[in-house]
Amino acid sequence: MSALDIQSFRSTFNGQLFEPNDAGYDEARRIWNASVDKRPGLIARCSGLADVIAAINFGRANDLLTAIRGGGHNVGGRALCEGGIVVDLSRMRSVYVDTVNRTARVQGGATLGDLDRETHVFGLAVPCGIVAKTGIAGLTLGGGVGWLLRKHGMSIDNLLSCQLVSADGSVLTASAAENEDLFWALRGGGGNFGVVTSFEFRAHPVHTVLGGIVVYPRGAAIDVIRHFRDFMESAPDELTAYVVLLSGPDGTPIVAVIPCYCGEISDGERVLHPLRTFGSPIMDTIQPLPMPAMQSLLGPYFPDGNHNYWKSTLQRALSDEAIIAIVEHANRMKSPLSFVVLECYGGAAARVSKDATAFPHRDLPWDILFIAQWTEPRETPIHRDWARSGEEVLRPFSANAHLLSALDVEPDDVIYTAFGANLRRLAAIKKKYDPANFFRVNYNIKPDLTETSAA
Ligand SMILES: Cc1cc2nc3c(=O)[nH]c(=O)nc-3n(C[C@H](O)[C@H](O)[C@H](O)COP(=O)(O)OP(=O)(O)OC[C@H]3O[C@@H](n4cnc5c(N)ncnc54)[C@H](O)[C@@H]3O)c2cc1C
Repeated sequence: MSALDIQSFRSTFNGQLFEPNDAGYDEARRIWNASVDKRPGLIARCSGLADVIAAINFGRANDLLTAIRGGGHNVGGRALCEGGIVVDLSRMRSVYVDTVNRTARVQGGATLGDLDRETHVFGLAVPCGIVAKTGIAGLTLGGGVGWLLRKHGMSIDNLLSCQLVSADGSVLTASAAENEDLFWALRGGGGNFGVVTSFEFRAHPVHTVLGGIVVYPRGAAIDVIRHFRDFMESAPDELTAYVVLLSGPDGTPIVAVIPCYCGEISDGERVLHPLRTFGSPIMDTIQPLPMPAMQSLLGPYFPDGNHNYWKSTLQRALSDEAIIAIVEHANRMKSPLSFVVLECYGGAAARVSKDATAFPHRDLPWDILFIAQWTEPRETPIHRDWARSGEEVLRPFSANAHLLSALDVEPDDVIYTAFGANLRRLAAIKKKYDPANFFRVNYNIKPDLTETSAA
């Protein structure tokens, strides 16, 4: 890419362009995870659809490695590339709510917080994740699990259509009626197929939920998690809940149960009673919360600028042995900023068939995440090892399957476990829409994946 090429690109681009020597370049290449330190050759911060088309065409014409940035929260740093060009949607964050049809149209750089803020005005919510600063795009394309999952399904189960710019610069609509194969693939296939410039979701009447945190000393963790597991067996769909093994503000190891009940508050008080009265909690903050406040509850545990490394594993069941192994490994945590999350799915998300969307793990209701967080770069190996060995400890209990969006930097064979039995169908769709693998800074599905290599 010559200076002349960039100069002529600048003259047609409406957003901001950052080259390495430009003011603002370092801010533009910074993302949430401080462990990611990539230096793109050009960052194209788009102002709208026309800029996205221009950036893709420029990347293709100059044979540039091309990354897509939505909310910049991919833990493995897939929002950025070394050299090449970043198609940056971080200024494309508009949300439009249609109250008559109960839908929300969201631009491809919006965060969960942007979406929640606008839908909440009308007493509506779209199922998405649990931390407001996460990007809607990366989260949705990976499936999208969050507080409304057991009642209203995953984000992809509420996706009605996408507008996408493909590798050749054309604008496509993907929905049940148009480019149906692409629509299937976008619901769990990651950023492989093009730049999604907007998503249209179904929204649900959810305004105030019953949520908060019930905290116990770490010594009670095994009993608390066993009780939680048994309780969730017969919990109503209105309740989605996680358990977190973490450190309190003074560094004391604790265990927390975090429920979100999205039905009638009075019913929720009754449903949550056994969870709240189990054992001897040292704190209980459960109360009616506006949905955006529920979404903000865990934000402080994921601040910008910490180093992060994640490992996770999906499980069919949570045996007593697995619980003991999880708690023992949490007790070996090397940083007070790290934690282990036990996410319990099921409900509406589990009633969607495994091949209805590209997300295949409907029958694996437990995701155990080892989230290592630290501040000193020199400590990186210690914390990475802790997260990695957590996953190894759980291997005898795991389904050898992973949630796509929780994967850090991993070899292809691990990434393929996230696509499961849908991998070959995804590869065929990749071949149709992106035969040259132009979009490859992602959880990459190679268009020429053979029967053998996909096995
Ligand atoms: C603090 C935190 C909390 C999280 N909580 C949840 C949660 O509750 N539930 C959950 O399901 N996941 C969760 N995740 C995982 C999250 O869904 C993924 O990290 C996801 O990649 C973040 O999306 P993003 O747009 O911010 O990603 P980015 O880093 O911007 O992009 C990551 C990749 O997504 C693709 N992509 C991004 N934007 C577009 C676009 N517009 N068009 C096409 N492809 C695009 C590209 O392949 C890109 O490489 C969490 C992550 C973090 C860091």
